[in-house]
Amino acid sequence: MERASGIGASSGVVMAAAVVVRHAAVAPEHVLATDKAAELQKADEAIASVREGLSRIEPGNDDERSMLSVSMGYLEDPEYIALIHANINDLSYTAGWAVEAASERYSSILEGMGNEYFRERAGDIRNVEMSILAALEGVSGSIELSKPAILVVDYLSPSELIALPRGNVLGIASDRGGLTSHIAILARTANIPAVMGLGDFSSKVSDGMTVALDGVEGTVVADPDRKTGARFRRLISDSRRYDKELREGAGEPAVTADGKRIHLMSNIAGPQGIDAAIESGSEGIGLYRTEFLALGKDFFASESKEEEFYIDAAKRMAPYGPVTFRTFDFGGDKLTEWMDVNEENPILGWRAVRFCMERRDIFAHQLAAILKASAYADDVRLMFPMISGIEELKSVLAFFDEVKAICRSKGIPFNEDMKIGTMIEVPSAAICADILADYVDFMSIGTNDLIQYTLAVDRGNDKISYLYRPLHPAVLRLIKHVVDCAKEKGVTVSMCGEMAGTPEYLPLLIGMGFDELSMANHSILVAKRRMKMLDSIGCTRLVNHVLSLSDASSIEDVLKEFNAEYGKA
Ligand code: PEP
Ligand code: MG
Repeated sequence: MERASGIGASSGVVMAAAVVVRHAAVAPEHVLATDKAAELQKADEAIASVREGLSRIEPGNDDERSMLSVSMGYLEDPEYIALIHANINDLSYTAGWAVEAASERYSSILEGMGNEYFRERAGDIRNVEMSILAALEGVSGSIELSKPAILVVDYLSPSELIALPRGNVLGIASDRGGLTSHIAILARTANIPAVMGLGDFSSKVSDGMTVALDGVEGTVVADPDRKTGARFRRLISDSRRYDKELREGAGEPAVTADGKRIHLMSNIAGPQGIDAAIESGSEGIGLYRTEFLALGKDFFASESKEEEFYIDAAKRMAPYGPVTFRTFDFGGDKLTEWMDVNEENPILGWRAVRFCMERRDIFAHQLAAILKASAYADDVRLMFPMISGIEELKSVLAFFDEVKAICRSKGIPFNEDMKIGTMIEVPSAAICADILADYVDFMSIGTNDLIQYTLAVDRGNDKISYLYRPLHPAVLRLIKHVVDCAKEKGVTVSMCGEMAGTPEYLPLLIGMGFDELSMANHSILVAKRRMKMLDSIGCTRLVNHVLSLSDASSIEDVLKEFNAEYGKA
């Protein structure tokens, strides 16, 4: 029996046969290059082949998509590649050594930043390094998992996990990685129990050995004795019961202990999210990120393809609730490959409605397609991203009226009373929410962008992520202001940023008075359960208290205490 403790990175308990994967064999030899040109070519070919492998992986959800794009970002980073080239040209390193040294340089800078988050980002570059080294050795980098098993690994790259048959990964025990590593995030999204940071556990396990894994406690046991095996069987049945309880709650409305009702809806990025939304007891799609449908220019090539996506979503969700199509949010940090833009400040640049109002061909086509879909269900909604003020909103609405008039003239049926909303994700829109509210049926707060713009912290920049504080008083004041304006004007108020799906923040959102919260599917079951433990009056008192505090740390402390007292789901 071999026992090890690490970080419980994804909850759940499992006991099964192990499949062991160790990548250590690809460590490069440190010998000087005899033919620099050949080494440069080998390095470039290996990088290209890893890139090609990644581009063939079909991400199943937003998290997977973002993991892949982080790896791709390194593989396309000109500085990283220039460093590899310089190691070969200037220092006469062989290709593998040059990759290893360049990655070492990147990861030591990140590791030296002294907090866990950056250490995990150093892990990302390590994953990329291992993939390139494997490609240099002619190893495909893919793992064989033909039947269900617990993966016991020295490390696992996001692309390796995404490429595996999901049903066969019963658990992950990894020597490396921590709570915020991408593998941990992916494991949580896919509901796979995982323990990370296990030291050299993988070297002590062999293929086929029974492994027991507790993703809550962060423990693993290889070849458990009878007593340990029995304990794990009990834990497994307890955790099945908890899961069952969560799933049983799927059909129930989301309501607090004192009867306050909030509609919990789903954020999706494509048709694959709809079945998962229905299974999670979602009450509608609160955010359909339509830009992810258009991964290539081809999307616009066919007239009917776009509307098929919208009609399909409208029809399948009709029995459960609304479908909120957000118009294309191209630009900024997303999907700019085909837009042919080169901006100094893309986050503050030509994105979302700013792009759509210039590419009116694309916008008109999308609006007409959504209008057509509105005829297939009672509650298809339209929402505009990145609105910064009333003039922009009015011009978008005027354009929408033109598209409606064209549809009418062509005899295309659509819902004349379709609900129209604006996202509130730019501080100017939040401040002027009372003005915007007069022109829409609903407002949905996009905290991901609202936080980045309010605090002037790029949401994708690892270096300054410590400043990205959802509980900053400025953010909370803005959110509260938007909710108050919506209430005063009688429009529905919703939140669809990541804050909405974070159980710890739920008491604040209840206390502020949101009508709807939209989140990743897997968060809905937990949020429903958490709501039952909360009392809306207590949550309102909590909001009043935190709004009187002057800094994010004090607010975080108060919320932590509140959550400890009122049960954490
Ligand atoms: C947001 O900004 O909070 C949001 C929901 O939109 P996205 O994450 O797609 O920018
Ligand atoms: Mg946004």
